[in-house]
Amino acid sequence: MDLFEYQARDLFAKHGVPVLAGEVIDTPEAAREATERLGGRSVVKAQVKVGGRGKAGGVKLAATPDEAVARATDILGMDIKGHTVHKVMIAETAPEIAEEYYVSYLLDRTNRTFLAMASVAGGMDIEEVAATTPEKLAKIPVDANDGVSPEKAREIVEAAQFPAEVAEQVAEILVTLWKTFVAEDALLVEVNPLAKVADGRVIALDGKVSLDANAEFRQPEHEALEDKASANPLEAAAKAKGLNYVKLDGEVGIIGNGAGLVMSTLDVVAYAGEKHNGVKPANFLDIGGGASAEVMANGLEIILGDPDVKSVFVNVFGGITACDAVANGIVQALELLESRGEAVTKPLVVRLDGNNAELGRQILADRNHPLVERVDTMDGAADKAAELAAK
Ligand code: GDP
Ligand code: MN
Repeated sequence: MDLFEYQARDLFAKHGVPVLAGEVIDTPEAAREATERLGGRSVVKAQVKVGGRGKAGGVKLAATPDEAVARATDILGMDIKGHTVHKVMIAETAPEIAEEYYVSYLLDRTNRTFLAMASVAGGMDIEEVAATTPEKLAKIPVDANDGVSPEKAREIVEAAQFPAEVAEQVAEILVTLWKTFVAEDALLVEVNPLAKVADGRVIALDGKVSLDANAEFRQPEHEALEDKASANPLEAAAKAKGLNYVKLDGEVGIIGNGAGLVMSTLDVVAYAGEKHNGVKPANFLDIGGGASAEVMANGLEIILGDPDVKSVFVNVFGGITACDAVANGIVQALELLESRGEAVTKPLVVRLDGNNAELGRQILADRNHPLVERVDTMDGAADKAAELAAK
């Protein structure tokens, strides 16, 4: 989960990384009071989960509370690389910026380690620095067990050749930033710019944090950081039911057991769709092993609640959970939905294969639901589901 800058700033503050005061608002008028509270001047910063806000005109200085209202009016509603600005942060203005640096920690999957990156050439174009002058971006592996001690921090500072007068401050920040990274179960923490300002202080002026969703269970406070307003409503409903669902933009609803099977189902449906008006998969939904009637009913409910869906392809390969159990799950799910007053009104194509496939198919045949059609091969079922969606 990626965070907004203001959320990253809050986490930095919590763990002792120096930041400037700021508050987040969503109406232009609120910029006035916020700026007054900061002493009459502020920086108005678009809160979108994408970089390059500065270049896009999403970061503006305001010398008076009136100007802050004007800048907030400009920035709220702005589109930055496809992201609409719904919130702005009104931040304390930094004393004049003398230098802009870059520091980050991230999970380096390729090398099975963590990585510290640091550069004295920070600011807006770190990607360009990395591409054109890679020698200016120091990359130091960080061992998960050792972490970033003051000694390790000094090693990073030296590798990136920070000026002597800021070396100690930057090293201290690197240690607290590592604490933030570990304590919050982050996959990425990035500060750009880490600015040296006129009075000699080094401050994090912009932050990017990405949290590891796998650690949700031990980070109860992270739930509040979710951007519920921008979440797709179907995805939010699926998440609430504990389903692995991703909304896509096609017409064929997909349910399968196992992420790999569902991924290949998306491929065969997209391929089959080429012959049927170009219909495409409407979603990814993995109901996993087990596939109880309730999980199946919840999955169908989400998919049938998507107005774009014209047909549904249920693709199941029986393994430890045998096909007869899944078939019973489907039959009970249909009844469950009917009892909830949400009877199925769109055609369902079901393919069952693997453990106890014959028995499973028989159960569906006996139930003989008018909207459920059995097709015994994956390609055949994909073709049928695409054909029905194209009608
Ligand atoms: P980004 O473009 O999305 O990375 O947004 P940043 O928050 O990094 O802001 C872009 C640039 O705006 C920074 O590199 C700074 O030069 C400048 N900036 C950000 N905050 C302040 C501030 O408080 N005061 C001043 N004077 N400039 C700032
Ligand atoms: Mn930045």
